[in-house]
Amino acid sequence: MIKKVFELAVAVAILVGGASAASAATAQLHEARLSATGTSAQLTLDVGGTTTQKVFTLDRPRRVVIDLAHTGIAPGFRVPEGSGVVSEIRTGHQLGGTLRIVVQLRAAAAARSTWMPETSSGRHQLIISFGDAAPEADTTPRVVRAPHAPIDSDRDVVVAVDAGHGGQDPGATGPRGTHEKDVVLPIARLLASRINAEPGMRAVLTRNRDEFLVLRDRIKRARVAKADMFISVHADSIANHDVTGASVYILSERGASNESARWLAERENAADLMGGVSLDDKDNTLASVLLDLSQSANISASMTAAQRVLAALDNVGQVRKSQVQQAGFVVLKSPDIPSMLVETAYISNASEELRLKNPRQQANLADAIFAGVRNYFEQNPPAGTRFAQARRSTMASAAATASTPN
Ligand SMILES: [Zn+2]
Repeated sequence: MIKKVFELAVAVAILVGGASAASAATAQLHEARLSATGTSAQLTLDVGGTTTQKVFTLDRPRRVVIDLAHTGIAPGFRVPEGSGVVSEIRTGHQLGGTLRIVVQLRAAAAARSTWMPETSSGRHQLIISFGDAAPEADTTPRVVRAPHAPIDSDRDVVVAVDAGHGGQDPGATGPRGTHEKDVVLPIARLLASRINAEPGMRAVLTRNRDEFLVLRDRIKRARVAKADMFISVHADSIANHDVTGASVYILSERGASNESARWLAERENAADLMGGVSLDDKDNTLASVLLDLSQSANISASMTAAQRVLAALDNVGQVRKSQVQQAGFVVLKSPDIPSMLVETAYISNASEELRLKNPRQQANLADAIFAGVRNYFEQNPPAGTRFAQARRSTMASAAATASTPN
């Protein structure tokens, strides 16, 4: 839910044309103060927002470089004049939005950086000490969080796994009489257990028995579980029994725009969309713009996730179409849960029918779908999840190693 508000905010920023390079900054340098003697110095940086720092020393001339990731310079900021052991301080922006502060020294001096606790104004102070007494430069990156930044938690990513059909709806039937509803349930269960075995992930099955479910109820169960993703598991059927292979579908734009009208017509259903931003009090135009933004962000997230799953399925066997397909399937119509439908194989093909019944093949399919989904969440972790924490620390250590001193 939090993630959706963020995506929406990004979409709105692009809509109003405000997406300049500076808007990528997550922190601002407000003030820098220097106190120095002939042999030691202390530079204090007042930073608001979220950043990571990297401090390192360079020779000829002697200088200490402080890189602040994704940091801009606040209006009115002034670079302190050099004094004592510090001959000059310069600032400049690096590619990727890193703010570089270069402290030029008259004599060799080790540097050490320390973050002080948050001040009452919500800013953080980074103190860099130079001097004979200071130990080697501390280049351990540390993440500083803005007061309004999403609170770190390690909640699980929730994946709704939907076994297609069930009960009075058998789905497709193979040449040997195998029903789709009976082969997709074990695949869905295997997928759910793979997800549940993975730290940071949790699965919810929309059905766990031979039960008939209205399509809209499948979406509803995913929403109730606050799912971060919805995966519907099916097996395909076609008149030409030679056709084989898996395909992955996401919602088409046309299906989405039809759906937008429907959610608007049922305002009470739409009230829990977009992080609890109610559409009740919005006029029709604004409400439909908000819904469209949410939906197009959702389709693009669904596409990214579906591509990962398709690639993983391609690794274990043949896929029917190498591109993600788009259609107006009802189960894909959640406006804010990335959703995909996986046609695991053609049950209408005699050998694929056998494969679909084979527990080993079922496990292979479940493993492939799982691999694609995990890969997606590693790259696109929802805020507040363990995956988001892991991604942040990966990026912080990448920032610490990839230095281009000047
Ligand atoms: Zn089906």
